Amino acid sequence: MTAPLIEAQSLRMEYRVGRGQVLRALDGVSLAVRPGEVLGLVGESGCGKSTLGRCLLRLARPTAGRVIFDGTDITALPERTLRPLRQGMQMVFQDSYASLNPRRRIGELIAEPLRVHRDGQGRRRTAGDIAARLAELLDLVGLPQAALARYPHEFSGGQRQRINIARALALSPRLVVADEPVSALDVSIQAQIVNLFMDLRDRLGLTYVFVAHDLAVVRQISTRVAVMYLGAIVELGDADTVLHSPAHPYTAALIAAVPEPVVSPDGDRAPPLRGDVPSPIAPPPGCRFHTRCPIAQDRCRTDPPVLRDPGDGRQVACHFPLESSA
Ligand code: ADP
Ligand code: MG
Repeated sequence: MTAPLIEAQSLRMEYRVGRGQVLRALDGVSLAVRPGEVLGLVGESGCGKSTLGRCLLRLARPTAGRVIFDGTDITALPERTLRPLRQGMQMVFQDSYASLNPRRRIGELIAEPLRVHRDGQGRRRTAGDIAARLAELLDLVGLPQAALARYPHEFSGGQRQRINIARALALSPRLVVADEPVSALDVSIQAQIVNLFMDLRDRLGLTYVFVAHDLAVVRQISTRVAVMYLGAIVELGDADTVLHSPAHPYTAALIAAVPEPVVSPDGDRAPPLRGDVPSPIAPPPGCRFHTRCPIAQDRCRTDPPVLRDPGDGRQVACHFPLESSA
């Protein structure tokens, strides 16, 4: 089996939030993504998806645990040493407008990383190098060359996301973490941008960590899926397995919340989720999902389940995983 391109080992991320309180945004997250895989990351708002994405790219430094990129432990690397590695990993954000300086032309915005970083031979890129690369990048993301001279406000949300993708790809990264990249777009445009991500993955051999709360999007693009709840992964496995026959009651509830034909799991649908996500400052003892779980037993209130394989290759953190109906 090929070595992972990116790996998280027991990641913890704690924020001090005043009055001596600690918010644990990540509570021991481990995962590995191999080259060419698309790991879909799902879970309700506030469960730690963005924090995990930022830690994987070392845009944030985790409180504990390790991040390994392409065999190198990058957890504690100083900015100087990290910089050349950064070229290999890029992020695309949800808000296509916030990531683009409104006063700069598209050409300057996409060229910025090409000006800042030296090329593979350690040389500064010439104006000619940059112009050629800009033309290539616009072709890749399906924008006309005339876009270079225009400003961000002249484009639609979907086109701005294409611009952000072009900028993320400028330095030929191997890993892209996309944090809800289509969540702010109209449904019809979402499909186009998801298709662009899939097309780019095939053409460039990219690896994605793709955060989305829309399970239809996740199902379309992911080869594997990680389901997060209150800072921890509760289920992880092949996208088909996890989304067709979820083993964790939380996964089942997320799927049940999706309008019918989009995702149809085998067997009966789980009841919808009750109540709100508890505070990550004081998560429930035992299984952190027990306060909302329709099948919780006494044991779940005291005994935290660990991720384990129920026998079909996935991992699930539940004392009473749902039977696969496959
Ligand atoms: P998601 O992306 O899944 O919505 P986030 O990773 O943004 O979740 O947030 C996880 C938790 O960490 C939330 O409770 C959020 O309020 C908290 N959090 C995120 N960033 C910070 C920060 N800089 N300071 C304090 N708390 C934060
Ligand atoms: Mg987020």
